[in-house]
Amino acid sequence: MTDGYILLVNPWIHDFAAHDLWAEPLGLLSIGAVLRENGYRVQLLDCLDRWHPALLARQRRTAPPGSPYGTGKWPKTILPTPHVLAHVRRYYGRYGRPLDLVQAELAHWPRPDAVLVTSGMTYWYPGVAEAIQVVRARWPGVSLALGGVYATLCPDHAATLGADVVLPGEGELNALHWVDAVTGRTSDWARYRALDDYPGPAHDLRASTRSIGVLTARGCPYGCPYCATHRLNPGFRQRDPRRVVAEIAYWAGRGTTDMAFFDDALLVNADRHLRVILDEVVGRGLRVRFHTPNGLHANLLDEALARQMRQAGFETIRLSLETADEAQQQATGGKVSRAGFERAVAALWAAGFTVGQVGAYVLVGRPGQLAAEAQESVAYAHALGVPVRLAFYSPIPGTPDYAQAVAAGALPPDPDPLWHNHTVWPLAGRWMTAAEIQAIKDQALAGNQRLQGAGA
Ligand code: SF4
Repeated sequence: MTDGYILLVNPWIHDFAAHDLWAEPLGLLSIGAVLRENGYRVQLLDCLDRWHPALLARQRRTAPPGSPYGTGKWPKTILPTPHVLAHVRRYYGRYGRPLDLVQAELAHWPRPDAVLVTSGMTYWYPGVAEAIQVVRARWPGVSLALGGVYATLCPDHAATLGADVVLPGEGELNALHWVDAVTGRTSDWARYRALDDYPGPAHDLRASTRSIGVLTARGCPYGCPYCATHRLNPGFRQRDPRRVVAEIAYWAGRGTTDMAFFDDALLVNADRHLRVILDEVVGRGLRVRFHTPNGLHANLLDEALARQMRQAGFETIRLSLETADEAQQQATGGKVSRAGFERAVAALWAAGFTVGQVGAYVLVGRPGQLAAEAQESVAYAHALGVPVRLAFYSPIPGTPDYAQAVAAGALPPDPDPLWHNHTVWPLAGRWMTAAEIQAIKDQALAGNQRLQGAGA
């Protein structure tokens, strides 16, 4: 049996563009907390940590550049564009800490007994591959497992990246079983039967906990045909609101100023979930700014809830509009309607939220979507006074929309995951031309500027 020293790795992002919107490897940090609870010693190599002391020293800064809420840009190192993406006229690169800083850090660390590497978007896999290579170069033959979103959605492709094993699906128990097998231990697996049995994510493994992510639930009760959530988190499970409040209070008491809810369905069952959480936040006088980078379900947002959110400290709100086309709203599962969206927007204004705090996601590039639908959706949100955030569609294996794209010949049945890149996909040009996409971007930008100018 070894002494149980486990290295967790959050890889770089390789892409044309990336922005840190409170990005945190929440699944990996939850695994870290479970491993610690079972007596393991855990360390995090976070290639995306903008607060890392060596990075700040190189930048001659005391804090990373970005918004007062904790979001901002990662350093970018230009890399050769992969052959598959050679037609894209943009600079490809590695987002995150420079390679030499990561290698220098690893040079001082002892050999771990096992390494757990996580992964994000499927088309970021070159950053995962690079992280695995760097770890393997430092410790040849070390036991290494790969999990996370990409590993779950594309397990066969993930198996080619050099890990000893791919661990698809929810991470905590998979990781604990594998690490036990590698180290010759037997943990108390049976204690983890429900979400509330897990300890909170080990945010303290990161260099800064000024802003953190919070998950009050996993999964989503809706079934939109473009979404990966059912493959990543089957079912819908909400945590005990009291445990969520305890987590918020714990980190608020340790200097965290901004918390981003990464729930897929934060407003579902609000009377016995979010409203209970917010009552406690207000009752205890917890002072935190909350953000919802994942869009909220507008149909579930009424004025009473909007007022409660404002009182509790919600600072930035994103609503999932996706499309203003009522037929499409129904055809994609009915999570939003025009009437529900208009009611939600009116509720936010009545509660005192301002134009600068609110935004609506409009989806661009779904298989079969024509430019006019996206343009009308942008115009609809702007007419209600809501700035638009364009969400470019990314094909996700195993979803109905992906199957439609393959059936239409817009995607080969088993393409390189680089083809899932939301920058690249619309350029396939099957349903929208590049000129139409640019026109949608211009329309969104002009309308947003007009609204924000009027609201200033
Ligand atoms: S409501 Fe959102 S999270 Fe749920 S299935 Fe639809 S897109 Fe996915």
